[in-house]
Amino acid sequence: MCKAAPWQTGVYVPKDWTMASQEIENLVQALARLPGLGPRSARRAVLYLLKRPETTMKPILSAMEQVEANLVTCTICGNVDTKDPCQICSDPRRDEKSLCVVEEVSDLWALDKSRLFPGKFHVLGGKLSALDGVRPEDISIDKLLKRVEQGGIDEVVLAMNATLEGQATAHYIAERLESFPVRLSQLSHGIPVGGELDYLDEGTLAQALRSRRPVE
Ligand SMILES: [Zn+2]
Repeated sequence: MCKAAPWQTGVYVPKDWTMASQEIENLVQALARLPGLGPRSARRAVLYLLKRPETTMKPILSAMEQVEANLVTCTICGNVDTKDPCQICSDPRRDEKSLCVVEEVSDLWALDKSRLFPGKFHVLGGKLSALDGVRPEDISIDKLLKRVEQGGIDEVVLAMNATLEGQATAHYIAERLESFPVRLSQLSHGIPVGGELDYLDEGTLAQALRSRRPVE
């Protein structure tokens, strides 16, 4: 029986050993903070970039620089873009008469990607929350009222999240818009396409039951 080599006992490697320089480590750590990427995926991405810097790293660098240099928040709707008014607000093909109100820019992007809504958007930049002390004046509600007040909008779709706070926000906005001659509608929250009842949480099921409609 020969004695185990020091590395086999697992105590040989000092804790501060790193396999890459601090610069590369910094890059890995920066990427690992991105949503959807953990340290493991970040390390794989960095390795991929290092292997082909000309075709991978340089285009990313220049795209990032261009976006970063021109990044603005749209003064009309609150979307983020590289121009103000943003691409959506300045697109004449969009229906000026329909306005979809969302909590965050991520909701706007998700809805717009579906290509189901032909109108324009309004980003609140949050939701009312007694717990977090978010009041109506803290999010973009007054700006929304001003947009509606200016006229030309027939329908406002309240596309808040199906959370208590999201629904309270929708309710509050609906009340504030009551006196305006606009049609108000809300996303119906129900069973997702392909969803099996078994897998749904009680809230979704209850909402689906409440918003049930006649069989066509
Ligand atoms: Zn905009």
